[in-house]
Amino acid sequence: MDLESLGWSPFFGEAFEAYREAGFVPLRVVAHQGNLYTAIGEDGEFSGRMRYECAQMGDFPAVGDWIVAKINPENGTMFIRAVLPRRTKFTRARLNKGAYVGEQVVSANVDVLFIVIGLDQDLSIGRIQRYVAQATPSGAEIVIVLNKSDLCKDTDEFVVSMKEVVGGVPVIISSAMTGEGLDEMLSHLERASTGSLVGISGVGKSTLINAILGDGQLKTGEVREHDSKGRHTTTHRQLIILPNGAMLIDNPGMRGMGLDGAEEAVSGMYEDVEAIMRQCKFRNCQHVTEPGCAIKDALASGTLSKDRYRSYLQFQKELLVRSYGKKYRSRIRSEVSRAMKRREESLKKMRNG
Ligand code: GDP
Ligand code: ZN
Repeated sequence: MDLESLGWSPFFGEAFEAYREAGFVPLRVVAHQGNLYTAIGEDGEFSGRMRYECAQMGDFPAVGDWIVAKINPENGTMFIRAVLPRRTKFTRARLNKGAYVGEQVVSANVDVLFIVIGLDQDLSIGRIQRYVAQATPSGAEIVIVLNKSDLCKDTDEFVVSMKEVVGGVPVIISSAMTGEGLDEMLSHLERASTGSLVGISGVGKSTLINAILGDGQLKTGEVREHDSKGRHTTTHRQLIILPNGAMLIDNPGMRGMGLDGAEEAVSGMYEDVEAIMRQCKFRNCQHVTEPGCAIKDALASGTLSKDRYRSYLQFQKELLVRSYGKKYRSRIRSEVSRAMKRREESLKKMRNG
């Protein structure tokens, strides 16, 4: 397999130069199970573990990552020396007993993130909006896939109101059963580009990949791995090469999008913003016109970036709206929107940030 077909580009080549002399090779991670990684490159498929220290959770290799590896072609093993810088990364908050402990990279170097939602589920525009908000910093193109259309005939109204909320994000109606929408998904993926399917379990991510692969193929097939002691283990390949030369990453065993479990911990994710808020002079400060507002000061001095504050407000808005019953939601939503607008206007008045 040549590297370009796996998504290699000068961006990675440049970062890899420092390692070339020392006999390392670049490989792309296609699966991992715990600390055992499987990756492919010019000389085939290898598996092994990391041999470097991770300062943070985000330094661990993820599926889609390009790693710097020393391979042993004799027995198919390798060890990982480093992870090359990522073009894009989709992360989720990692919680420990409800407390935010860091960002974990779910998939790396993805060109298109397909947010898959099951039309047979309890549909919530707010939830989809949060998924989009979570996916936006990844740097990948975002596409919403509403799957299982065969189970749900009447989606028009929902789709129309959702499109208003998510702005220009493409929405695909699909069915892994009837094949609806699969070509449209593929149209976002050219040769050597990488897509990743995210969404809670049961929405049909694996079934969609299998349907795209077509029948008869060994689908989300097993890969043989050799652990450090040479034993064979098997795991599911997560990065799959499609017939058109594009790649798709499945994210099996991802119970939530990261946000579901993190909802209560949203405040934990915005510890920095909330620490600043506690310094406002008034406890009920709205951070708009009040004197002694620490948020305004932090925004003005650049200690708090406007983008970070905006994303905090967005989360707050959704949480607030959701905490009300259906009956009041639309009223609350417009009220909250007005409050957001006032904050937005006061943000605009500030010069830097
Ligand atoms: P994943 O956890 O997101 O990978 O979901 P799976 O691919 O395992 O699918 C979960 C279940 O939904 C399976 O029983 C699938 O057969 C079913 N499923 C997936 N896609 C569709 C679809 O488009 N229509 C219908 N009716 N069922 C589907
Ligand atoms: Zn304030």
